[in-house]
Amino acid sequence: MPDLEVVANIEELVSNLELEIAALIMAHIENALDYQLKASSIYTILISGQLVKPKMAKTKTIAVSEKVGVVSGWNSLNPKWTEFIAKNNGISLSQNETLVAEFYQNHIEEFNRYNYETKKWDLDSESEPGRHYRSHAEKQISVIKPCNSIGVSRGICEEDCYPYFCALA
Ligand SMILES: [Zn+2]
Repeated sequence: MPDLEVVANIEELVSNLELEIAALIMAHIENALDYQLKASSIYTILISGQLVKPKMAKTKTIAVSEKVGVVSGWNSLNPKWTEFIAKNNGISLSQNETLVAEFYQNHIEEFNRYNYETKKWDLDSESEPGRHYRSHAEKQISVIKPCNSIGVSRGICEEDCYPYFCALA
């Protein structure tokens, strides 16, 4: 895994860059913060149980890019959530772990070049190794709605999504 560091002070990081590039990065971050708020508010609605409570509510994650939101997992997107969130939050909910698997397979050489390989999880079924980490909301949205800014309802996972996004970048 590449040696990654979380940036504590983004203004400091961009201060050495060309003004135009620094401004662009800051604009992307501002969008990401806006998407993060949207992701958090969708998370709050879904776990409230007023619609249908997600299974394993506390381990669910929401990621938002532009007008699209992803609920982590697979085969667990409830039509009631989709309808309510579209109406209430103006976000179209989506979930498609298969697209992540296809994207990874189609770019496996590039991912390998940057030392990224989807981690296996202890509870992955033998026929679908890597499915757990592929289903993470931030990874799904990077394929479903590629965008320079992503907001996530909680911290991005360090084990697999950090090295994934590093290779993707
Ligand atoms: Zn992850």
